Amino acid sequence: MSRFWSPVVGTLSPYVPGEQPKLQNLVKLNTNEHPYGPSPKVLEAIRAAADDTLKLYPDPSSDRLRHAIAKNAGVQANQVFVGNGSDEVLAHVFLALLKHDKPLRFPDITYSFYPVYCGLYGIQYETAPLAADFSINVDDYLPGANGQAGAIIFPNPNAPTGRALSLADVERIVAGNPDAVVVVDEAYVDFGGESAVGLVGRYDNLLVVQTLSKSRSLAGLRVGFAVGSAELIDGLERVKNSFNSYPIDRLAEAGAVAALEDTEYFDKTRVAVIETRSRMTAGLQALGFEVLPSAANFVFARHPEKDAAGLAAALRERSIIVRHFRHARIDQFLRITVGTDEQVNLLLEALAQVLQG
Ligand SMILES: *Cc1c(COP(=O)(O)O)cnc(C)c1O
Repeated sequence: MSRFWSPVVGTLSPYVPGEQPKLQNLVKLNTNEHPYGPSPKVLEAIRAAADDTLKLYPDPSSDRLRHAIAKNAGVQANQVFVGNGSDEVLAHVFLALLKHDKPLRFPDITYSFYPVYCGLYGIQYETAPLAADFSINVDDYLPGANGQAGAIIFPNPNAPTGRALSLADVERIVAGNPDAVVVVDEAYVDFGGESAVGLVGRYDNLLVVQTLSKSRSLAGLRVGFAVGSAELIDGLERVKNSFNSYPIDRLAEAGAVAALEDTEYFDKTRVAVIETRSRMTAGLQALGFEVLPSAANFVFARHPEKDAAGLAAALRERSIIVRHFRHARIDQFLRITVGTDEQVNLLLEALAQVLQG
């Protein structure tokens, strides 16, 4: 606490990002980055953009990028909002679209940034418990069960469980709440989920958020976006233009457009991750782990006999970092990002040693 802080600062509980260690040669499976680098065309585009024009501000409305996203999504450019990572997009979504008299509803086990934004913006929220198998219970998000929510947000696939809802289930939630905004955070959808982007033309209350950080291998570039009705996007623009007119810099826009255009590289690398995920899941199961079915680039696994925090520490001693959350219901799980085949081999060998010892 400092006497110079605004009163709100002391009340905040900030998000704690996964560790970004300075050490080289670690097997880093803790923050769901893509194991393969971005498309060579992305690097080329960024190099080409690194010129004298950096003295100029970028396009405040990121038209090229919004058009590239709109083309991929099959919508109009005025149905696309872009931001400095989807975390920034989500921040604007919370303030612009999720703050209402009735509480916002999201799962009890989910992306831990959601309650942080609620704290920052003074948004009331309530959580709906995941089922025993860690799936989202669709009925919890329909007005019948718990009354009308002020708004709804959930990731699909969910984080950190990796479990996905079918598109039909997502549509039931969207169709069942015509007077409330429903935000589907699709950070991991390209690794096996079904995107709800195709529904935005039919539902003006649906906003789909995606990022280039995970499936496009661009966590370091900071580009995320939302797709929804022009009315929702307009609300987001009003907040964005009250905050920062230029969230997407010139290099980020050049790289992001190139990434969205290189569909061949995108498909090749995301399929590689999906294949490695199957092998990693089978390897963990052979070691006795229970692994939740994952549609993401990570798995959520627990060992029936070994304490998860102890396992994470033992892996760390062997230079392998995974994520462990000290939260109720999930403190015996490890969230392990799908790495390269070589990294997964190292992980499985290390776990075999630890479990024997
Ligand atoms: C990673 C992640 C994000 C944020 O990604 P950005 O890097 O900020 O685009 C948003 N939602 C979920 C569920 C995530 O896992």
